[in-house]
Amino acid sequence: MNPEHNLLQGLAALHDAIGIHAISTVYRTRAVAGPDTPPDLRLPDFLNGALQLQGEQDPWELRDTLKQIEKKLGRQSGQPGWAPRPLDLDIALMGTLCLENERLTIPDPDIPWRPFLARPLAELAPTLRHPVLNQTLHTIAARFPPTDTEMAPVLPITVRLQNMLSL
Ligand code: ADP
Ligand code: MG
Repeated sequence: MNPEHNLLQGLAALHDAIGIHAISTVYRTRAVAGPDTPPDLRLPDFLNGALQLQGEQDPWELRDTLKQIEKKLGRQSGQPGWAPRPLDLDIALMGTLCLENERLTIPDPDIPWRPFLARPLAELAPTLRHPVLNQTLHTIAARFPPTDTEMAPVLPITVRLQNMLSL
């Protein structure tokens, strides 16, 4: 919902709370329908990207901080997975940490399946090895076709975010 506005507000809040070290290019991506998405529903496009936080975080505290920011931007809990939302902040990777729990899975299991996750992560840390797949993020991202009509870089928003965060 209102993705440009919510992305700017959400990242400003995250920068205040923790500090953002780097951001990837922001991509406009076509919504992916899941098995429970009502047919014929026109889902609005998403803005997707990756960011690297400053310092080291505790995964549980970070998850709480991210949830607080989502809530501050008006996200309601208990909505179906396909429902439009103001903002979704997920923990994709934390170095070599592997955690599999009903409330937290790190690395994000969607990384090898979603180009809008793998590509921006590879921009930030191409040589970082995925601790489960034991492949670099560059290798994982390179498996997706190079031209993808479902995913387009949005440079004006990327630059606005970089300026806002002084990056
Ligand atoms: P999704 O991110 O899959 O669209 P939600 O944002 O609604 O869905 O997340 C639902 C729950 O996923 C959160 O309450 C959180 O506890 C859990 N979760 C599991 N792994 C992660 C992760 N790596 N980062 C953030 N949340 C996660
Ligand atoms: Mg989420």
